[in-house]
Amino acid sequence: MARLTWHGHSTFMLLADGGEHILFDPFLDDNPKSDITKSDIGRLDYVLCSHGHFDHFADAVPLARRTGATLVGTFELVAFAESKGVEKVHGMNVGGGYRFPFGYVKLTPALHSGSIAGDDEGRFTTIANGFWLDLNGKRLYHSGDTALLTDMQLLRGRVDVALLPIGDNFTMGPEDAARAVEFIEPRVVIPMHYNTWDLIAQDPAAFRTRVGGRAEVVVLEPGGSYEF
Ligand SMILES: [Zn+2]
Repeated sequence: MARLTWHGHSTFMLLADGGEHILFDPFLDDNPKSDITKSDIGRLDYVLCSHGHFDHFADAVPLARRTGATLVGTFELVAFAESKGVEKVHGMNVGGGYRFPFGYVKLTPALHSGSIAGDDEGRFTTIANGFWLDLNGKRLYHSGDTALLTDMQLLRGRVDVALLPIGDNFTMGPEDAARAVEFIEPRVVIPMHYNTWDLIAQDPAAFRTRVGGRAEVVVLEPGGSYEF
C-alpha cells in the first residue's frame, strides 16, 4: 500500500510501498492550515516541487539540507536549490520521466507562473509543472498549480488518484477542476490548494457535488491520509 497524507495546501507526504518518504510541495511552517512544522519531519528521501513559489517551495531547501533528501524538480529549480546548499538534486523537465527506486516520475505540463522564492536576481526563473507517478502500477497525478488544460485529456485512463487544486484565484476553481476530472477520469480525486487563506476559500462538499459520479472525491483534513 502507498499512503498519502495531506498537510494542507498542496503539501502531501507519500509513503511508498518500499518505505520511501516522498514530500510534495513542502509548505509547512508558514502554512496556516498545516498540522505539522518542518521540524516534525523525520525520515525524508525525496522532495518533489512543482514550482518555486513560496507556498510550494518554502521548506524544500531547509528540509533537503537537514534530511539529505533528493530534491526533484525542473532543472532551474534544482539548480537554485543547489546554489543554496542542497547536496542531492535531480533536475528534469516537462515531458521527461525517470525511474526512481520508488517508481517512475514524469513531469507534466502546468499553466502557471514560475519565479522562485528566494531567487532575488531572477536567474533561475522556470516554468511550473505537475507530476505523474507510476508506483508499481498505482498511478498518482499531482497537478501542481495550474489552469485547466486540454492536455489533461492525455492522462485519461492513466490515473488512479488525482490531486487537483480547487481554490480558484491562483489556480483552477471547482468548476474547472470538475472539468479536469471529466478529462482525466481518475478513480479518486483529492482536492488541494484551498482554504489556506480567505482568498481561496472553497467548499469541498460542493466540489464533490459537481464531480458527481465521475470519480470518488476524498476530502482530507490536514493530517488525514488516504491509502491506495
Ligand atoms: Zn500555489
